[in-house]
Amino acid sequence: AVHSETHGFQAEVKQLLQLMIHSLYSNKEIFLRELVSNAADAADKLRFKALSNADLYESDGDLKVRLSFDAEAKTITIADNGIGMTRDEVIEHLGTIAKSGTKEFFSQLSGDQAKDSQLIGQFGVGFYSAFIVADKVTVNTRAAGTEAAQGVQWQSAGEGDYTVADLNKADRGTEIILHLREGEEELLNDWQLRSIIGKYSDHISIPVEMWKDEVPESESPEGEKIAAVPGEWEAINKATALWTRGKNDISNDEYNEFYKHISHDFEDPLKWSHNRVEGEQEYTSLLYIPARAPFDLWNREKQHGLKLYVQRVFIMDDAEQFMPTYLRFVKGVLDSNDLPLNVSREILQDTKVTTKLRNACTKRVLSMLEKLAKNDAEKYQSFWNEFGQVLKEGPAEDMANKEKIAKLLRFSSTETDIPEQSVSFDAYIERMKEGQNKIYYITADSFNAAKNSSHLEIFRKKGIEVMLLCDRIDEWLLSHLNDYDGKTLVSVTKGDLDLGDLDDAESKAEKEKQETEFASFLTRAKETLGDKVAEVRLTHRLTGTPSCIVAGEHDMSTQMMKLMQSVGQ
Ligand code: ADP
Ligand code: MG
Repeated sequence: AVHSETHGFQAEVKQLLQLMIHSLYSNKEIFLRELVSNAADAADKLRFKALSNADLYESDGDLKVRLSFDAEAKTITIADNGIGMTRDEVIEHLGTIAKSGTKEFFSQLSGDQAKDSQLIGQFGVGFYSAFIVADKVTVNTRAAGTEAAQGVQWQSAGEGDYTVADLNKADRGTEIILHLREGEEELLNDWQLRSIIGKYSDHISIPVEMWKDEVPESESPEGEKIAAVPGEWEAINKATALWTRGKNDISNDEYNEFYKHISHDFEDPLKWSHNRVEGEQEYTSLLYIPARAPFDLWNREKQHGLKLYVQRVFIMDDAEQFMPTYLRFVKGVLDSNDLPLNVSREILQDTKVTTKLRNACTKRVLSMLEKLAKNDAEKYQSFWNEFGQVLKEGPAEDMANKEKIAKLLRFSSTETDIPEQSVSFDAYIERMKEGQNKIYYITADSFNAAKNSSHLEIFRKKGIEVMLLCDRIDEWLLSHLNDYDGKTLVSVTKGDLDLGDLDDAESKAEKEKQETEFASFLTRAKETLGDKVAEVRLTHRLTGTPSCIVAGEHDMSTQMMKLMQSVGQ
């Protein structure tokens, strides 16, 4: 019995397919990258499972991908002998989108093709990209360790539905047959396919093979016989795990492509750091900073973390133990020689090796960012605009690296007076006035509220720079960061602002005079306001506004009060 069933795609899949076909058409050859990437993942997964059950190899442990085409039938076939899929897995993986945050993603789509294609790239197009060039896709697959009769055939025209049927499949793994759309015939060309696949597969760790035709027997001009060369499957990539190769031997293009493979991102990364460490600990790390924040950066359920390998063997995706939360945007690979091959998430949780690796990876990322900030301010700024809010969680989470993180922070200030956060503490300190020993800041709900606050009047008048903080996270950050480089961070809205040596002698005399002049007014004001205020005080802070409310030195700031109120405290 063929046992064929028709299923409808999940609504989001239908939407994704439509969008993808239209907005990614100019980039259509990426379908090959996605399908080869999936085949390599399938090989990784099989190797991992085979660690505890070598029978899964079914005496075929030579994992590879083969690409072929049939000009007459107008098909391209990508076949692998990786882990394969069961019927249930086929329905789950090729009929739905299992990503967290899918709803939000679709709600962000605007209908503007240029913008949407950007977003789709971030979402990760994956398997469905096959439909950019194909109007029918056939997937024949059989999961490792199952009987030939348990194969599955999935077929769809990429519209509303797909069918799943039983299939007798002798070889383990997955074969994807693309029936090309009218007009895509140029892909049915050996040279064309080789050049596309060459671009996308050099970093892939298993061989990607194409058939090389036999060369018939021939004769040299001198009349000598040249023997025929039989046809054969030929690897067209280097087929070694990229991170195991020497840095000098890897081109930027390869680093970029490898990033796209592991991150499912569409764009090139902003920066990477590739390191091999030998000695007491042995590991290789290849860590990337993406160019753009993913659409679901703030989604709590989102998986993050590094791809973990142990002695070149893939162990797991999203090993979150090796990166602190405030660096959750980092993508990459960690290949350790010190962890056991049978390591699980539970074991990872409490081994010393994990802690050491996590500290090492954290340092790598922080110093990569520090270098970037130093050598390429523009790139650093673009990093900050995407991920600065996340990095601001750092000082609270990672006491040990507090100073390092603080060096990387950027804020708005009265120096620039624009919302873009580009002022570092170091730049602020450089501009400090003679005699100034504190770093002044103000927090507010919005940039404009901060910028126009009456608390700033005296500072503007005296030409003292004030950091303008208006992100939600800023209060939290400041409650964990009291000083920088020996200079206390001081809110301009708190308590009795002592400008210290910044007050010149003349204004001191003036102040004293005013204090006596206004003494009786202040007493009357306090009597009138009664318990509503703790104190009524003469201020020298204001230049244009008659009065303002300040919090006590040890009280919560007004921002923090609002924050607490908003969570029901
Ligand atoms: P992603 O690779 O980001 O998970 P894809 O859309 O590319 O998303 O693939 C969806 C899922 O389909 C994969 O996670 C995998 O479980 C399954 N899959 C796709 N291609 C293969 C393959 N060649 N062999 C085994 N499973 C596959
Ligand atoms: Mg994929």
